[in-house]
Amino acid sequence: FNINMSEFSLDEELGRGNYGTVRKVWHKPTKVAMAMKEIRLELDDSKLAGIIMELDILHRACAPEIVDFYGAFFIETCVYYCMEYMDAGSLDSLVGYGMPEDVLARITGAMVRGLRFLKDELQIIHRDVKPTNVLISKKGVVKLCDFGVSGQLERSLAKTNIGCQSYMAPERIKGESQNNLGTYTVASDVWSLGLSIVELAMGKYPYPPETYANVFAQLTAIVHGPPPELPDEYSEDAMDFTRQCLRKEPEMRYTYSQLLDHPFLVSDRERDVDMVSWVSGAMEHRAAVRAAAANGGAAAPASAA
Ligand code: ADP
Repeated sequence: FNINMSEFSLDEELGRGNYGTVRKVWHKPTKVAMAMKEIRLELDDSKLAGIIMELDILHRACAPEIVDFYGAFFIETCVYYCMEYMDAGSLDSLVGYGMPEDVLARITGAMVRGLRFLKDELQIIHRDVKPTNVLISKKGVVKLCDFGVSGQLERSLAKTNIGCQSYMAPERIKGESQNNLGTYTVASDVWSLGLSIVELAMGKYPYPPETYANVFAQLTAIVHGPPPELPDEYSEDAMDFTRQCLRKEPEMRYTYSQLLDHPFLVSDRERDVDMVSWVSGAMEHRAAVRAAAANGGAAAPASAA
């Protein structure tokens, strides 16, 4: 269906990405809460229609592991992109609370099924797999968003900062430095998946910027250093799973079917996982960390002795 700005009332800001702002909004005609992403573009009007056409493919991206797309419209040089509102936010904001292996496996399974759906049903390579682009609900449902459907949109993004956390596979980093943009394959997404899983488990990005003198040293570590591993407390199955994603040579990495048949994900299908409790604990932890930061980083006041 067609949507436009007059149908929405605006609610709180949910977050800021590299290219724009995401707000919670209320779609008055359908009484549905949505997330509306404003993306600033640098382009001429003739290209806008092309972008809307390319985004249309998202109406076919209906799967349990993909965030629902409701529609998009333009105002001046901004595209407004409306999607399902996920009430616990993105996984990057929930790292640091701790991630038991059963929760990690449940999240991983959803990510792999989502990526396989995009590839098999829509012939889409995600291109931006990272914890910010994995959303979760209070019920513990995990869905992917922000995949590269529109080449034109990608080329028109008003690139502001690129960020110091690269989820790019080694072959892509090498390819970019040789100005070769044709090196992106589905295996590159598998690397980013592995890196995201290790980040969720470690509670921080596996190549922490403060360990490297500069971005070049960090990228060199990704290309030439050993791949990151899960912390020791995880099982051998979990360790092996991430190792198969984080092979340096893209042709050695597992495919999505191989990953789904891996014992780490087979065990996940056979057990109950209390995702609701994990999400609520992680959200409380996030709220406490944010409150402490708002207090100027001061720790909770010591109890009166
Ligand atoms: P980036 O550009 O870094 O990928 P986004 O602009 O996509 O980030 O999103 C910024 C933040 O907005 C996310 O980290 C997330 O917390 C929030 N967000 C994005 N989409 C949704 C959604 N559908 N439901 C709830 N929160 C969302």
